[in-house]
Amino acid sequence: MQLVKTEEKKLADYVSFLEKETIQELNYFAKLMKGKKVAMVNATSFGGGVAEKLHSMVPLMQDLGLEVDWWTIYGEEKFYQVTKSFHNCLQGQQGVLKEDDKSIYLDYNCLNASYLKNWNYDFVVIHDPQPAALLEFYEKKESEKWIWRCHIDTSCPNMSYWNFLYQFIKKYDASIFTMEEYVPQDCYSLPNVAFIAPSIDPLSAKNKTMKMDEAKHILKHLNINVEKPLITQISRFDPWKDPLGVIDAYKKAKEVIPDLQLALVGSMATDDPEGWGYLFKTLRKAGEDHDIKVIVNTGDREVAALQTASDILLQKSLREGFGLTVAEGLWKGTPVIGGNVGGIRLQIENGITGYLVNSVEECADKIVTLLQNPDLMKKMSLAGREKVRKEFLITRNILDYLRLFYRLAITGKPS
Ligand code: UDP
Repeated sequence: MQLVKTEEKKLADYVSFLEKETIQELNYFAKLMKGKKVAMVNATSFGGGVAEKLHSMVPLMQDLGLEVDWWTIYGEEKFYQVTKSFHNCLQGQQGVLKEDDKSIYLDYNCLNASYLKNWNYDFVVIHDPQPAALLEFYEKKESEKWIWRCHIDTSCPNMSYWNFLYQFIKKYDASIFTMEEYVPQDCYSLPNVAFIAPSIDPLSAKNKTMKMDEAKHILKHLNINVEKPLITQISRFDPWKDPLGVIDAYKKAKEVIPDLQLALVGSMATDDPEGWGYLFKTLRKAGEDHDIKVIVNTGDREVAALQTASDILLQKSLREGFGLTVAEGLWKGTPVIGGNVGGIRLQIENGITGYLVNSVEECADKIVTLLQNPDLMKKMSLAGREKVRKEFLITRNILDYLRLFYRLAITGKPS
């Protein structure tokens, strides 16, 4: 297990985004939870939404007076292969969990648990399935509250995987899902289920306001023609994110808008061994079309520039736990077209902050509609940013956690 260092952040810098009541409530619960020790545990400090959130949440909770450590577990290729299949199958992919894979998963959890001997936390938040079995190999004190935070869409899981995982998570004091519909059926014995939507940090390098000139300057360096329309999808190269469907939608829209460009931007998370294979598949599909720009492992500034200066952002996922990229895009005032699935539905109000689409055809159609209606894009831009300000900023997410900690500490039940 490794401690992750984060940059210092101050809540005071966020007050301009918040309602007075939210600030009061944050301070109220922070006072009650002051000095409480919290461990956040996940698989990786880089790549993907969980790492993204923890880089902001951890220092802000520290600023509020809690003592928060962020730990990543130790893993190797074979462990990540297994946990990637957990991720896919818990989102519904077919397959049977093999005994060998169970052993690999448990061996690494057992190995990581050997680092926990001197642990002394009030709250331990375990993110996603990778470290979920740590508790199996750890003797927890009664006062310690363990919380499992599920970031994926487990509404229709492959039961062979879910049943295996369930035996561990039902021993937790509480669990958090993004939406009610993500709790698989027959999970009545899960104690203290809470629902918390993820969030973005409006002041992170990726989300703080960038001037359009600067954004366009960066795009030029990425070999994008800023005079031509641009649609962009930013996400891991993963079948659930449907980059191949995005290329199909782009090609269809390009029949109407011939100078259309598409940027597909993805990072290779350390816990995602399938990524390279799917990147190559995407590159093959893009072929010789030089208006498709595939950009890999680029920095936050470039992502911010793409989210700011693209005409439309896509998140055409086929399954999506939440989709931070949607909130990030809306926050920058760029309309987002998203797959009509999971957490994307929480963020896109169809026709108001963007469009929800069910097919390649629908996606292409909405790309054309928006590009041909600048006034509509402007309206969506304002509505999207306001939606995120009200519902999906990191401060709301922290408040939800503090409420949960408080309720668990006081009554053993979440609010
Ligand atoms: N991301 C990034 N660079 C990339 C691709 C993705 O910084 O090339 C970030 C993206 O901005 C977002 C996170 O990775 O903050 C992806 O989170 P999301 O919830 O959309 O998807 P996940 O990868 O967790 O399924």
